Amino acid sequence: MALLLSSTSISPSVVILRSLFSSPIRFSAYGIRRFQSIRLRSSLTVGGSTQSEAPAKQSELIFLGTGTSEGIPRVSCLTNPLRACEVCSKANEPGNINRRRNTSIILRYTNNSGDFNVVVDAGKFFYHSALHWFPQFGLRTIDAVIITHSHADAIGGLDDLRDWTNNVQPQIPIYVPKRDFEVMKKTHYYLVDTSVIIPGAAVSDLQFNIISEEPFYIHGLKVTPLPVWHGKGYRSLGYRFGNICYISDVSDIPQETYLLLQDCELLILDAVRPDRSTPTHFGLPRAIEEVRKIRPRRTLLTGMMHLMDHDRENAYLLKLMETDGLDIQLSYDGLRIPITI
Ligand SMILES: [Zn+2]
Ligand SMILES: [Zn+2]
Repeated sequence: MALLLSSTSISPSVVILRSLFSSPIRFSAYGIRRFQSIRLRSSLTVGGSTQSEAPAKQSELIFLGTGTSEGIPRVSCLTNPLRACEVCSKANEPGNINRRRNTSIILRYTNNSGDFNVVVDAGKFFYHSALHWFPQFGLRTIDAVIITHSHADAIGGLDDLRDWTNNVQPQIPIYVPKRDFEVMKKTHYYLVDTSVIIPGAAVSDLQFNIISEEPFYIHGLKVTPLPVWHGKGYRSLGYRFGNICYISDVSDIPQETYLLLQDCELLILDAVRPDRSTPTHFGLPRAIEEVRKIRPRRTLLTGMMHLMDHDRENAYLLKLMETDGLDIQLSYDGLRIPITI
């Protein structure tokens, strides 16, 4: 048994599971970097702040992926002799906005302790997302990864974190619910119990922090889990950072979670297809229904399959903005939102 269970000072609701042979975490050498001023494709700053409260550097949220598990375009659509899928054909063009990898965001935030990059989910396409966006946006370190649930499109990229822990920083803390950690013990057994690794083999050096459904802190950032259903009897977590609420995989929202969604300014919400929900995901009509209920200032949809054409759906949603006053749009891979949290 190579795991040592110990309490930690990070938060009462967080328990650290640390490999017996892991080295202590050192963030300071890697946590400081300069925010690069790049023209933002989104003009809205979410969250209010006074002059005296304003951080020296602008925090931001970047969408690393906004698509379903198989990715957009689907290979099967491109090999279909009928070539019937318009969205996948478009998504196959370089730089097309319909090209989508597995849902994931990175929160780049600044506080008195420094600058930190917190990733939510590292799924099957994490390497491809990071390859595309990290160099472009001047991202280097990963100060934490928070897991929403243990499906492959949320944790399938944990092995790819080896490039960071071998070449950028000593370790990466993973924040994961107990039930999903139990899954990782099977799917990523060699990352959980590093004693099974052949000496000298280079794998990701991860530090697993077991979270409950209570708020916890990462370098001063308060993270509030938003428990939701992702299919019958299967729990997934959304997360709230300040007034930003991120729910990427949801089929139903329990009553008690609505209390945690009050005064949400930016809601990022699952909407898999334009016409209806599936047993495990909201469709667009249900997502709109939830927006009417939650009343965020702005909503960005994520987790879109190939039936969701970016421009077509956004045109429909713009009309909804005019008629119903609902600010809802589709997100896209590489979208950057300046934030104050
Ligand atoms: Zn398609
Ligand atoms: Zn899932």
